[in-house]
Amino acid sequence: MIIVMLGAPGAGKGTQAAMICDKYDIPHVSTGDIFRANIKNGTELGKKAKAFMDEGKLVPDELTIELLLDRVSQDDCAKGYVLDGFPRTIPQAEVLTNALAKAGEKVDFAINVDVPDENIIKRMSGRRSCPKCGASYHVEFVPPKKEGICDVCGSELIQREDDKPETVKNRLSVYHDQTQPLIEYYEKAGALQAVDGTKDKDEVFADIVSILG
Ligand code: ADP
Ligand code: ADP
Ligand code: ZN
Repeated sequence: MIIVMLGAPGAGKGTQAAMICDKYDIPHVSTGDIFRANIKNGTELGKKAKAFMDEGKLVPDELTIELLLDRVSQDDCAKGYVLDGFPRTIPQAEVLTNALAKAGEKVDFAINVDVPDENIIKRMSGRRSCPKCGASYHVEFVPPKKEGICDVCGSELIQREDDKPETVKNRLSVYHDQTQPLIEYYEKAGALQAVDGTKDKDEVFADIVSILG
């Protein structure tokens, strides 16, 4: 089962992807998490990616596509996986479609987590993220059991540098220009499913489970 999460930054893709991966026991592949791990480890890729991420721009396709194809070719992805944050451009989606087709595979479900722009700033400004495992919380809507501490791995939560309101505005406009066209792309491919992402996270998850079966 290959699942793509679609939706604006802050729509809840990461939150839902983690719940799907837990339930179906498949890996959570987040390009944002991979870039952040590279930044933390000071790699060449991390240095290049950081400049784009800090401005709320997309990391160029040349740096992103190969990285992703390499990740999903690893053994743990053989049973399927959830892509969170990839594809983000039409060329990324096309490369993915072609690479999967060569292996007789396809994206089975592209789940659009639909949240209007008005709700996004509030979600992003209250987001707290785990720098170690990538889990995402919200000070008001999805609080961790112990304030400031990750439920999953016990690390201290941080506020992401790119979750400042100015950067969020850029990311939203990049989303509308470059990523939103993927909704139509996956609709044409017959894989699109939409869920109302403004509901509570457990209700959104129940809707997704009823789609996945
Ligand atoms: P969000 O949780 O807001 O959706 P992500 O963690 O997915 O954010 O991504 C953070 C940043 O990493 C993006 O703003 C972008 O700069 C970069 N990035 C992540 N995935 C991709 C991708 N597939 N293509 C280009 N840039 C990406
Ligand atoms: P994305 O991966 O799409 O950028 P996240 O999963 O990180 O989004 O969620 C963005 C913020 O919104 C986080 O603070 C998260 O805890 C919160 N959040 C996620 N799902 C919901 C929901 N259904 N209702 C309210 N807040 C949510
Ligand atoms: Zn954690």
